[in-house]
Amino acid sequence: MNGRTAIVLFTRDLRVHDHPALATAAAAFDRVVPLYVLDPALADLSANRTRFLHQCLADLRASLRRLGGDLVLRHGDPVAETIRLAGEVGAEAVGLSADVSRYARRRERRLGVECERHRLHLRLFPGLTVVEPGALRPAGGGDHYRVFSPYHRAWLGLARRAELAVPHRITLPTGVPVGRLPALPAGESPDAAPGGESVGRRRLGDWLPTLDRYDDLHDDLAADGTSRLSPYLRFGCVSPLAVANRAGGPTGPFVRQLCWRDFFYQATAAFPDMAHRAYRRGAIEAWRDQPEALAAWTEGRTGMPIVDAGMRQLRAEGWMHNRARLITASYLTKQLGLDWRAGLAVFHRWLLDGDIANNAGNWQWVAGTGSDTKPYRRFNPVRQAERYDPHGVYVRRWLPELAAVPDRAVHHPAPPPD
Ligand code: FAD
Repeated sequence: MNGRTAIVLFTRDLRVHDHPALATAAAAFDRVVPLYVLDPALADLSANRTRFLHQCLADLRASLRRLGGDLVLRHGDPVAETIRLAGEVGAEAVGLSADVSRYARRRERRLGVECERHRLHLRLFPGLTVVEPGALRPAGGGDHYRVFSPYHRAWLGLARRAELAVPHRITLPTGVPVGRLPALPAGESPDAAPGGESVGRRRLGDWLPTLDRYDDLHDDLAADGTSRLSPYLRFGCVSPLAVANRAGGPTGPFVRQLCWRDFFYQATAAFPDMAHRAYRRGAIEAWRDQPEALAAWTEGRTGMPIVDAGMRQLRAEGWMHNRARLITASYLTKQLGLDWRAGLAVFHRWLLDGDIANNAGNWQWVAGTGSDTKPYRRFNPVRQAERYDPHGVYVRRWLPELAAVPDRAVHHPAPPPD
């Protein structure tokens, strides 16, 4: 076969626009094999995310076909499958977006070893965050920023890489079996948003005109005024850099939230145990073990309306408003005294946007074991509800049994039956 061939191994960067690994391979090689490996080790983490992933893959395949290429699908260990395919197509290089979780880092290291053994050139690319983890180092020493505000200040001042266009053309080597996408699996949440770059980009375009109102509305539970881009960012259907650019550059309250995302990624890159161990040095952990209380919280039947509303939104949509995430997580850890890891696992099962860095980073922040500089902070759920859902619209949306309760009582837990 004449010409040079590269494999682009897709993971959670399921898009064709602003994709550094794909754009570079398309410019530098005659043939490019876009590959996704369905990894059995990740298959059962969340039915919601598996369904979303399959929708993303179908959309990515359609986009790559429009560019003249295809998405090659394999099942098994991503490292072994990549090496095998490289042999089949005579590839000399593999490109991959660098990631931060312990599993992803281990996969990168194994791929590095195997590529070297098979004389393949492996190159890691940016693209999962606005600013790469490790790009910013605190002046006073340390390998990463442990507190958000100084990170944010440094983040604002850093030059960004240039956004990249969709490649004009993807040329596959001839005769590569592309593999079939399995039938779309069922999710658990009836009202979950569908996955894919097309839907994600449409969502971005539809939401941006409301950007000016973000500062006023992002904490208003009933208004539902946030972007709901998190699942699309989670799977890389939209590029975080492109989202920040389209939202007007580094400043502003919305792009600040993307900085929170980058912050937790760089913290997780430096502390890969983020989902398992307290991040804050010296954090004291003494959690209760109460399976019934955990089950009631999980199923949205604690009797605290704002908490139950949040958990029911999570189960119905595979997504929860950020303010409700803060209240439900704080209730579990600070009111019920239950271990943040138990709450993290429940969120991880349902959330379409569930990922290690953001989920664990935020849970630890709320539980007081993480990066919050006020670790003993405690949210009073009734006061939070009265402030962020003053007319009980959000609570009644998810708890229709409270439809007839007057506003002044809607956030108070029902008295126990006599
Ligand atoms: P917007 O308000 O429109 O914000 C835009 C984007 O900024 C989001 O899509 C998200 O990528 C990022 N962002 C916003 N807030 C945060 C934050 N606090 N931390 C990190 N990134 C943020 N977010 C996840 O993406 N995955 C998770 O698994 C996750 N778990 C969470 C667990 C808890 C206990 C809490 C309190 C928060 C968690 N978050 C998580 C952060 C936040 O709640 C969601 O990112 C946000 O609600 C998503 O909605 P949106 O896209 O409309 O956000």
